[in-house]
Amino acid sequence: MEKLPTLVIYSDSIKYTDDYIYSDYEYEETLVTRKGCDVTARPIKKCLGIRTERRVGRVGVMLVGWGGNNGSTFTAAVLANKHQLTWNTKNGTMDSNWWGSITQASTVRLGIDEKGNDVHVPMSHLLPMVHPDDLVIDGWDISPLNLAESMARAKVIDYELQQKLKKEMSQMKPRPAIYDPDFIAANQADRATNLIRGTRYEQYLQVRADIKDFRDKNQLDKVIVLWTANTERFCEVLPGVHDTSENLERALRANNTEISPSTIFAMAAIDENCIYINGSPQNTLVNGVVERAEQRGVFVAGDDFKSGQTKLKSVLVDFLVSAGLKPVSIVSYNHLGNNDGKNLSAPKQFRSKEITKSNVVDDMVQSNDVLYKPGEKPDHVVVIKYVPYVGDSKRAMDEYTSEILLHGTNTIVVHNTCEDSLLAVPLILDLVLLSELFARMAFRDADHSYQSMHAVLSSLAYLLKAPLVPKDAPVINALFRQRAAIENILRAALALPPNNYLGLEHKVP
Ligand code: NAD
Repeated sequence: MEKLPTLVIYSDSIKYTDDYIYSDYEYEETLVTRKGCDVTARPIKKCLGIRTERRVGRVGVMLVGWGGNNGSTFTAAVLANKHQLTWNTKNGTMDSNWWGSITQASTVRLGIDEKGNDVHVPMSHLLPMVHPDDLVIDGWDISPLNLAESMARAKVIDYELQQKLKKEMSQMKPRPAIYDPDFIAANQADRATNLIRGTRYEQYLQVRADIKDFRDKNQLDKVIVLWTANTERFCEVLPGVHDTSENLERALRANNTEISPSTIFAMAAIDENCIYINGSPQNTLVNGVVERAEQRGVFVAGDDFKSGQTKLKSVLVDFLVSAGLKPVSIVSYNHLGNNDGKNLSAPKQFRSKEITKSNVVDDMVQSNDVLYKPGEKPDHVVVIKYVPYVGDSKRAMDEYTSEILLHGTNTIVVHNTCEDSLLAVPLILDLVLLSELFARMAFRDADHSYQSMHAVLSSLAYLLKAPLVPKDAPVINALFRQRAAIENILRAALALPPNNYLGLEHKVP
């Protein structure tokens, strides 16, 4: 493995020990009070201690839906990079990379050199993170195909690369999984033959046993469980069932049919002390699950990878609204031909996707009361169609209409074609690496001892379409704000101020 360059911070506010990096950090905000039309503001400061554990340990990932397009492509990408594989295509010889991953392929502005020029470093160099080559992968799937067969079925990876990976991936076989035909589309039934039988409670116990088996056999310090299986319908959230951890456990033992397979996976993961990440839109992380994570000191994150159309939307609408233009109609069409598209062609599963896609511009709209009256929103419609021929190569067509000066209109049309899984897989990597890092960070103010981040890791919002946040916390969808939050948390752990982009060195004499 290539040796990473070291980054050392010289500051009175940072202390390195063998085990930890300690940062004394001044968190600055502006406290605003509104009385009618009058606004007063005053800067506030809070002194925080931030402690980051330096030892990364051995980390395993268990994917629910391992044999799907994302699961097989993730596995192929990890192995291709680990073995530094190259392969020939009609365009020449290709090599492995992690493009699309912010931790591996993006940089962070660290500061300026003596001449005042920006200096950037890869995000992964800021703090100790798991190296992707060191990840150990396992998982579950209702389909029995081994990973080489799944990769061939997915039709995502170039043929020659598939041949190079075939031997290793054919040894990888998903563990039997929990299948409830009431939760995913009926059109998935023919692949559902690799199943954990029994009651919901028995299934939960089996998933726990699987996690233990994986952890013990590979001597892992941490296991992260990530759902990249088919989108389920929303479960009907019932009082007395989903609302508290205790009720959820009681309902699980009573085999309540409104507890979804994904919620069973989440409960098993939390009870095995594993971070659980929901990469699909469904409401797995009901209040009872979040409470359970809080009680056990475990982290959860969700919902739904923010890979393509929504990512662009959370840039474009931010740009329009912050430019003082008023988006009034946003219409998004998608068509795709992979198994995800097939599952989403069923109305209840489509509804889950529609819900997560629908609120993604709310924070940007609400930030501008010059343009929008309270409660006013743009018309926002999302259509998804299944077209088998295009396979994983998803098409997204969006039309943004905005009102501009004196109520003129401006219409922007975007057509985006991209292999879906090749966009989603780097996000899976980042979710794993960043959640593992955030789990090693602890914060304290002057009066308290160190505490972990909140059980709901809203700091991962950049990677998620409908970010789950702690109760009463605001949901941020604007992409660059989400990215700046990640960047500045990492900087805070190094006792560095947030990037402010003032550039005064060049602006004042
Ligand atoms: P896929 O259909 O190729 O893979 C899903 C896999 O899950 C299949 O192999 C299926 O057999 C398996 N599965 C279904 N139910 C299961 C269960 N209960 N337990 C274990 N395995 C189960 O789909 P994909 O393209 O890999 O996408 C996976 C998920 O990620 C979908 O829900 C999709 O909506 C979500 N997602 C994908 C993207 C993207 O690819 N760009 C973006 C956002 C969200």
